[in-house]
Amino acid sequence: MSTESLRIVWIYPDLLSTYGDRGNALILARRARQRGMPVEVLEVRSDERLPATADIYLVGGGEDGPQALGAQRLIADGGLHRAVAQGSVVFGVCAGYQLLGTSFFAKGVQCRGLELLDLQSDRGPSRAVGELAGEIDPRLGLPALTGFENHGGRTHLGPEVSPLARITAGVGNDGNTEGAWRGKLLGTYSHGPALARNPALADLLLRWATGAHQLPPLDDTWSDRLRNERRSAVAAARA
Ligand code: GLN
Repeated sequence: MSTESLRIVWIYPDLLSTYGDRGNALILARRARQRGMPVEVLEVRSDERLPATADIYLVGGGEDGPQALGAQRLIADGGLHRAVAQGSVVFGVCAGYQLLGTSFFAKGVQCRGLELLDLQSDRGPSRAVGELAGEIDPRLGLPALTGFENHGGRTHLGPEVSPLARITAGVGNDGNTEGAWRGKLLGTYSHGPALARNPALADLLLRWATGAHQLPPLDDTWSDRLRNERRSAVAAARA
């Protein structure tokens, strides 16, 4: 493993931090440090330039207004596009997922996205609020995804991205699939925060960022218990 610090950027805490997704930065940093990797977490506000040289960029959820402003500033900044071109990992949650696509709706207005993922979001008939669960794309080799969703948008995937999961509970993109990924870019509707509830997903991002095929296992008893509890609750509710 490199002795250089793993650099994690938490994008726009002043705009895209409404739903507790900052926990994803804490989880990544903790799981990396537990494996002996030095980590640097940078919080970059929306009035600052985004460094293009970090390993992992996290874009969190947000209400419509901050989401639209965040997308405008990220497009104007250009740092995230440069980072992606250099092979950085990007993890977007909800608003941060939608704005990675070509367009999304905020406050009834269609807004331009960053065009980093082949997807676009419109508005659904009602707000999707509640437990979210799904079976993750088998190519990623991860256990089932669980989380909590709270969004008005619905997301439609183009041919250049793959769904992250097939829905077993909740709505996700459109009631059938949830999230999307391509290369080292991954988006999800899962709050909770997603990486606290799905530590194997955190390790996937760490493996993408470091090039490691495997990471030493950690004790994930509590998140495993929560996942099993939520899966049982979903199965019981459907029976
Ligand atoms: N504003 C977006 C929507 O309602 C995203 C919400 C969120 O990030 N939780 O769809």
